[in-house]
Amino acid sequence: MIDVFIMGGFLGKLGGMISYQDARELVIARVRGIAGAPLSESVPLREALGRVLAREILSDREYPPFDRSIRDGYAVRAAVTKPGARLRCIGELKAGDAPSISAAAGTCVQIMTGAALPDGADAVVMVEYTSREGDTVQFDRAVKVGQHVVRRGSEQAAGLTVLPAGTRMGFAEMAAAAQVGAANPVVMRKPRVAILTTGDEVVDFAATPGPFQIRNSNSVSLAAQVALLGAELVILGNAEDSLDELREKISVGLDADLLVLSGGVSMGKYDLVEPVLCELGAEILFDAVAIRPGKPVVFAICKGKPFDAQSKPVFGLPGNPVSTLVCLTRYVLPALRGSLGQSPGRVERMALSAPITVTPPLTHFVPVRLEQDDWGRDWAVPAPTNGSGDFTALGSTEGFVELPPGPNTYAKGFVTRLYRWS
Ligand code: AMP
Ligand code: MG
Repeated sequence: MIDVFIMGGFLGKLGGMISYQDARELVIARVRGIAGAPLSESVPLREALGRVLAREILSDREYPPFDRSIRDGYAVRAAVTKPGARLRCIGELKAGDAPSISAAAGTCVQIMTGAALPDGADAVVMVEYTSREGDTVQFDRAVKVGQHVVRRGSEQAAGLTVLPAGTRMGFAEMAAAAQVGAANPVVMRKPRVAILTTGDEVVDFAATPGPFQIRNSNSVSLAAQVALLGAELVILGNAEDSLDELREKISVGLDADLLVLSGGVSMGKYDLVEPVLCELGAEILFDAVAIRPGKPVVFAICKGKPFDAQSKPVFGLPGNPVSTLVCLTRYVLPALRGSLGQSPGRVERMALSAPITVTPPLTHFVPVRLEQDDWGRDWAVPAPTNGSGDFTALGSTEGFVELPPGPNTYAKGFVTRLYRWS
C-alpha cells in the first residue's frame, strides 16, 4: 500500500486509515526511538528552572559541613548542665566563625543559630531558658545530648546523588542544586520545533487579508502550545501550495529536531505536503486516522539526502484550526514531552453534563467547558464548534473529551477522558 509514489507524481493517499490507538502508539514508539540519545547542554543554574537534568547532581561535601547550632543560646556539655547549674561563659561563636574556643568543664560558650559547635560541647540551650549575670550563666532546665544541634553529615553524605538524572528542576530542586554548588547543571537540550503552515489563502496575521484570504492563526496556536511545553521554536511562516515552495521550506524545517506542518494533507488537488515528503525520501507511517476532527494527518520520518543522517519526525496536521489543535495535543505534544524527559501526565476523567450524538463510528473529540454543581461534582459541558476555527467558542473551553468509537449517543454521565488544552 505504501508503494504509491513515482518520481514526479503522486497517485494519492496510502489508502489505509488506522485507528487512533495505533496512531498514538506509532508516534510515541517512533519518536522515542529517534530521541534515543537525547542531547544535553550545560546551563547556568538560574536558567535551569523547568529543565530536566541530563546528568545527576552529587553532593560536593557533607551537609551540614559541621555540627551546627539551630538556636541562639549557649553551647554546653549536657552531662554537667543540671537544672540550676552555673557555668562561666568563656566567649561567643556566631554563624561563620571557626570554633576556635572549646567548652572545657565548668564553662559554656554563647552561640548563635548557624554557628559551629565548639569542642567539648554536645548540646545547645536556648537563651530563653538561661539567666546571666556578668560572665556567669545559670541554666533552668535539664539538657539532652544533641539538643538543638544538627550533626555534621546528618542531612547529606558527601558524593551521593542529590538529584538523579531525569529530575525536573522546580524551586526545591534549584535550591538543592545551589546548596551543593552545582553552578552549571547539565540539562536536556530543548528540542527545536519548526512550524510551517501551508495554503495559498493563508496570509500573515498582521497583514490585511484580501476578500478570500484568511489570517494565519495556526502558526500562532501551534507555536503557543509548543512554547508552553518548553521547546524552542523555529517559525517558518507559510508556504504556498506549490511543490517547489513546499520542497524548499520543508527542507529548511528539517534542520530542526521536529517539523510540524499545518494544512495541505487532505484529498484536494493542491494538498501537496505528503507528495513532497515522499519525494524527500520520508517514510510515511500514516496519513489518515479514524478520528474526528483530524482524520487527514500525516506522520512521517524524514531522513537521507539532502539532509544529515539523523531521522526527523514530521507531522502534517490538517489545516482546520480545531483539527490542528486536537492533532497537536494528541500526537505532537506527547512526542515532545517524551523527548523533553517529561512524564506523559495524568489521565483525567470527567462525566458528560449532557448527551452527545456523533456519526460516523470514529473516535470523536469534543471541546468542553468544565462546570461544578452544588455537590462539588465536576462535569464536562460539551461545547461543539462549527467545525472550523471558532476561537471565541474555544477560548472558554478547558480542553476536549475523547469519545471512543462505539455508540452513536453518549449519555449524560458518561465518564470519559479529558485532555486539557495545556
Ligand atoms: P487544508 O487542510 O489545507 O485543506 O485547510 C483546511 C481549512 O483550514 C481551510 O479552510 C483553510 O483555509 C484553513 N486553514 C488552513 N491553514 C490555516 C492556518 N494556517 N490558519 C488558519 N486556518 C487555516
Ligand atoms: Mg490548504
